[in-house]
Amino acid sequence: MTADSDARYEVLAIRYASRATTRSSLYLNHHVYGPDGPITMDFFLWVARNARRTVVIDTGYGEAGRGPGHPKRTELADPVAALAGLGVHPRDAPQIIATHAHYDHIGNLAVFPGSEVVIGRAEYDFWTGPYARRGLFAYTTEPADLAHLAEIRDQGRATFVDRPTAVAPGIEVIPVGGHTPGQLVVSVATASGRAVLTSDAAHFYEEIELDRPFAYLTDLIGVYRAYEQLRELAEEPGVTIVAGHDPDVMRRFPIVDGTKDLVVRIA
Ligand SMILES: [Zn+2]
Repeated sequence: MTADSDARYEVLAIRYASRATTRSSLYLNHHVYGPDGPITMDFFLWVARNARRTVVIDTGYGEAGRGPGHPKRTELADPVAALAGLGVHPRDAPQIIATHAHYDHIGNLAVFPGSEVVIGRAEYDFWTGPYARRGLFAYTTEPADLAHLAEIRDQGRATFVDRPTAVAPGIEVIPVGGHTPGQLVVSVATASGRAVLTSDAAHFYEEIELDRPFAYLTDLIGVYRAYEQLRELAEEPGVTIVAGHDPDVMRRFPIVDGTKDLVVRIA
């Protein structure tokens, strides 16, 4: 294997849940734009891998995230089982990138007791700090998930980032903030360029295209600024943008055979 192929990855998006809802419940002050309408929000996690390395980007929500405190969704797959179906197992301790600490992104971290977890410094500090328990912030998280983040730190398994950082050959995390204080975007080198996983810096492609912030956020100016960064990235040659919760991801990329239409190959 050459050093070059060592730094290029296959990138997969795994859809594990889906929610049929209204635009007004997902976009901040949606009435500003016009009448309401239906919209579907999918829930994903991602895998980047090559012969040498597997990196799991977010871990979906676990049992607590299926509870009544969260919106009604259709469960399509258990995230951990879906990873296992792709040959990704906790015993192999894959590196994990936690793009942010919302319940639908870090719910199964406890299943990976041997993994390094990359997370934004500002993300960790905010969610273990005094404002995390205020109503509108707390709504988007699970207390057990946040407590577990602190355990990961105490065990020496957390890698904190506060600037664009290469966390593996060919994989860069870019803190953009906005949606949450330490929201990360993940750029992965592939055979066909770079896949940019926006996670919740852009749940939907139209957030970037129409400049419409999502309903839940910690910093509105930061959200707009992140859209600018993503538009700049999208203009670079060879960059493929992958929105974090958009059903269109399942149409833009080819379905992986044998995955019950739940996994697409980004590159
Ligand atoms: Zn999310």
